[in-house]
Amino acid sequence: MERIGASQLLSGVSYMMLSHKDLGAHSHIRGLGLDDRLEPRESSQGMVGQAKARKAAGMILKMVQEGRIAGRAMLFAGPPSTGKTAIALGMAQTLGPDVPFTMIAASEVFSLSMSKTEALTQAFRRSIGVRIKEETEIIEGEVVEIQIDRSLTGATKTGKLTIKTTDMETIYDLGNKMIDALSKEKVTAGDVIAIDKTSGKVTKLGRSFARSRDYDAMGADTKFVQCPEGEIQKRKEVVHTVSLHEIDVINSRTQGFLALFAGDTGEIKPELRNQINSKVAEWREEGKAEIIPGVLFIDEVHMLDIECFSFLNRALENELAPLVIMASNRGVARIRGTNLHSPHGLPPDLLDRVLIVSTQPYTPEDVKKIINIRCEEEDVSLTSEGLEILSRLASETTLRYVLNLISCAQMLAQKRKAEAVDSEDVKRAYEYFHDEKRSVEWISDQTNYLVS
Ligand code: ATP
Repeated sequence: MERIGASQLLSGVSYMMLSHKDLGAHSHIRGLGLDDRLEPRESSQGMVGQAKARKAAGMILKMVQEGRIAGRAMLFAGPPSTGKTAIALGMAQTLGPDVPFTMIAASEVFSLSMSKTEALTQAFRRSIGVRIKEETEIIEGEVVEIQIDRSLTGATKTGKLTIKTTDMETIYDLGNKMIDALSKEKVTAGDVIAIDKTSGKVTKLGRSFARSRDYDAMGADTKFVQCPEGEIQKRKEVVHTVSLHEIDVINSRTQGFLALFAGDTGEIKPELRNQINSKVAEWREEGKAEIIPGVLFIDEVHMLDIECFSFLNRALENELAPLVIMASNRGVARIRGTNLHSPHGLPPDLLDRVLIVSTQPYTPEDVKKIINIRCEEEDVSLTSEGLEILSRLASETTLRYVLNLISCAQMLAQKRKAEAVDSEDVKRAYEYFHDEKRSVEWISDQTNYLVS
């Protein structure tokens, strides 16, 4: 466990944890599009229609934030392409950038490289963030923000100052001058103070004075410093957010840090996880770490089997469980691994603890709005005839298929040097790329032909 140290965790790691939020097909989704009273706006943050489901999702998020949904999970149930994944992503965006969001398709759990329960454990631990606070040395010339502590400075005003440390030897002297200035000048939170190195003159600068080129413009004789009485501040607090799974992998002797990038982390020993859990608990007690329960989204949840469902039931009891969101487009289905049938293929004990939210098919107006939002996102101009035919196709096929056609149609429009995608481009794209229904019909026609 000696190997765990927050500084070992590169900042790229926390980026990785969030990168799957930016899934291509949903890149226009920026939140749930609700107002302060959790009422759905007609079209906001990339979201259109599906008002009831969005509102329900917002209510669940509120309960999560208030810590009132422990041990529960939610299920989006509705026909294909009705926005189940989009709403789950909207929930993740609403929770904020350092809240982990993990998305898996249930079928991913069945792999040859690890057991089903190990795959689910990893997904759970990916969805639990640890915000680690750490003290590091201030590097010369670095721009940092430090809160002036009134009790240390004896100043009449306290404030958050943006400072630039430079020559550490002169800081003590300048720091004392600044403490002096703090008692006299009216300094409030967010102000930046400059101290002339030779004259010691203190100048209060604007709040927007925070970019390094502004500092450079002040010349070499100007210092931006802070120093509590009697002691030079050479250390600062930094915060990293990583997931429990990332801590597991980095400290696993067989895997190591690079496995995170390869995505192939193999199985992790339970003893190591126990050690990490105790270490994290220790950090929490010492105030060095904070746990951030995130979101685990399991798509096509009816593909899990009875063993996985038992695992889910147990895991949800854990104090550290993330919010588990499941999605299914099945009605009554067989619970895999049994001969029993049940709603959405979920066993009754799991169904009991699940809040079900249903998604409805879209109206033609909503479909048009979603197509327009996607065109904007992909920088595509679309004629009104193009929009008309795309929305008609959406009612005959699926919204997802139609959204996929947009970029293909754009390529065809570019080929004929047209500025906007028109109905002829859509029609040609439709001929090149089959939707699921046509593809199945085509194969069955061929089979009949071969058999006859
Ligand atoms: P499936 O059951 O097939 O998994 P789904 O219900 O999860 O489907 P999505 O994948 O969320 O459906 O939706 C299909 C496409 O439509 C995605 O690109 C999604 O971002 C977009 N979309 C769906 N609903 C909305 C909405 N309400 N507002 C904006 N875009 C939406």
